[in-house]
Amino acid sequence: MKTLLKNAHILTMDDQYTEYVSGWLLTENGCVAALGEGDAPQADEIIDCGGGILLPGFVNLHCHASMIPFRTMGDDCPDRLRRFLFPLEQEAWTRELTYLGARFAIAEMLLSGITTFADMYYYEAEVARACVEMGMRGYLGETVICQRAPGSDTPEDALALSESLLQAYADSEWVRPIIAPHGTTTVSAEMLQKCQALAEKYDTLLTLHACEMDDEMRFFAERGQTPVSYLDSLGLCGPRLLAVHCIHLTDADIACLARRGARIAHCPGSNVKAGKGVAPMRDAARAGIPFGFGTDGASSGNTLSLFDQMRLFAVCQKTKYHDRSLFPAREIVRAATRGGAEALGMERTGVLRPGFRADLALVGTDRPALFPLYDPYSALVYGACAADVRLVMTAGVVRVRDGRLSQTDVPALRQALEKAMPPFRAAAEKYADTLKAKEA
Ligand SMILES: [Zn+2]
Repeated sequence: MKTLLKNAHILTMDDQYTEYVSGWLLTENGCVAALGEGDAPQADEIIDCGGGILLPGFVNLHCHASMIPFRTMGDDCPDRLRRFLFPLEQEAWTRELTYLGARFAIAEMLLSGITTFADMYYYEAEVARACVEMGMRGYLGETVICQRAPGSDTPEDALALSESLLQAYADSEWVRPIIAPHGTTTVSAEMLQKCQALAEKYDTLLTLHACEMDDEMRFFAERGQTPVSYLDSLGLCGPRLLAVHCIHLTDADIACLARRGARIAHCPGSNVKAGKGVAPMRDAARAGIPFGFGTDGASSGNTLSLFDQMRLFAVCQKTKYHDRSLFPAREIVRAATRGGAEALGMERTGVLRPGFRADLALVGTDRPALFPLYDPYSALVYGACAADVRLVMTAGVVRVRDGRLSQTDVPALRQALEKAMPPFRAAAEKYADTLKAKEA
């Protein structure tokens, strides 16, 4: 089946940032077959893009997709991770909520143009099931944490779940299992090394929260270390490492991550909403560390849209370094698409080029905020939002058409999730005082 997308402003995101202003793109067998300007080839289906911006799908480098039921809960509450997130997860989180939350989150991500995401949470096999059902690419890791957690009493249990996921999805089109220890202080050194050994055994990525929390930074400072120097001493800093957040990096940390070939999942929205700080991404980028953007879970970043992350990234970095010229818009769009694909080590993804995967998003430019359009990259970073996404394809299959999911709809997903949420809501009531507390 050949599908022709015509009348599009195509941003290929290749090395030269090639654009086709009145472009067409042909997909066949899940890939881009051809693209260009002028006379378009024949196809079985023709889709008019209405002059919108067609670009590679966004890659979300860090999420806890299933955490939809936590959205807006205690958003302004300090230390909420230990005060109620962990306890509530232990008490009321279920396999069913993971599955239904993941389906809802995948819908939200597809509708915002995301075609691949990296995820860590509990019952991750359910997230994998949702990815396959909905045609979303997931790099998925069962959270390994040294405390009792949903689905696993011990970190060894979680590691066993990680390994069964690796075996179950060894050759999947949609799911690439990864290893996901929770963080630098929530997982013991011994378990971190076991995680690394498993990542090496199965030749996959390892992702964890690092250089994020104030108490984490204090913990290592008291020992004359940084989280990065600690991870390096354990052998975790290497090309398999996708370090999440990395807000508090020293120059030595940046040099270490660059030397070891590690990557960063930068989550500007989650970082600044929690008041944690602005990561030194100019310096990390200059050192050559591959990076892309993560939304974090709905509990931390609220929206699962990389449009929000791109704009926050731009304003935070320009402000931090007092430099308007820093990170031009097209570099930011690159980080959100191709940069994310590179950080995950994805092949044939992140660029619109013949032979590459037809994972792509069409952003409509009808809204007033998107006129006039001198610079499409700038429009994407500073003017566009998830609601502008008109069409999304993964592997050449239309997942979003005219701004709506083509296989299911949001009301149905929402209804299913709401039906499963009452016990969770009841458990959350116990933390009502905490949720409303403004002071520690
Ligand atoms: Zn996270």
